[in-house]
Amino acid sequence: CGIVGHTGPLTASDRSLTVLLDGLSRLEYRGYDSAGVALVTADGVSVTKAAGKLEHLRAELDAAPPAPATAGIGHTRWATHGGPSTVNAHPHRAGRLAVVHNGIIENFRPLRAEVEAAGRTLLSSTDTEVAAHVLDLDYARRLEAAGAGADPAVVLVESMRAVAARLEGSFALLAVTDLAPGTIVAARRSSPLVIGLGDGESFLGSDVAAFVSATRRAAEVDDDQVVLLRGGEVTVWDAEGTVVEPRTWEVTWDA
Ligand code: GLU
Repeated sequence: CGIVGHTGPLTASDRSLTVLLDGLSRLEYRGYDSAGVALVTADGVSVTKAAGKLEHLRAELDAAPPAPATAGIGHTRWATHGGPSTVNAHPHRAGRLAVVHNGIIENFRPLRAEVEAAGRTLLSSTDTEVAAHVLDLDYARRLEAAGAGADPAVVLVESMRAVAARLEGSFALLAVTDLAPGTIVAARRSSPLVIGLGDGESFLGSDVAAFVSATRRAAEVDDDQVVLLRGGEVTVWDAEGTVVEPRTWEVTWDA
């Protein structure tokens, strides 16, 4: 299973989709049963997913090409909760968000009861879709409290920090929203996630293979940290909400 993310300039293009498909194919060696992408377009987030090989995802994208994008997240799934299928494939939409996740949310049962009590209907049998709704419900509350002048990307960082603290288990969790072009917010615990630093663009991957054809500058994400990628700008916070300077290194092996 694997994760890849890309944020680029605010001028929408095909770059994010190209990066995601290249990254997902470089992560194929990790094994997977389905794959999908979410792209942040001028019309909001567009999700495409398919059971089986990446070829099936590519066929879906060829049949209905997404609009040019300013950011995107991609996923190959190794099913733990809910069988391999297109509906259980990631990304999962919830309200204003689309989310991809590697790992296992151990406390998804009480969280599922909570989001259903809040009126949400789950389409899949995954632990991930539950987490996506927990995040979107928190995001909706914070957006309303913050008012019209708030930066939707910064509010999503606050939601991600609050929700990550409530999740038990392991996760590399990435979210994009209709409200924030060129932006990905992510968190991790006990599942791998690394940042790639480009010029005017940024990357996330389960490992550096996801982005090494685009950049060799990498930065570490530690357990319980939250990351904001906006174009080429990268900010990392610890669990208390303090900005931290990530350790960076140069990838030396051949791509
Ligand atoms: N637990 C999630 C699911 O079953 C994520 C699996 C993965 O790491 O790919 O959908």
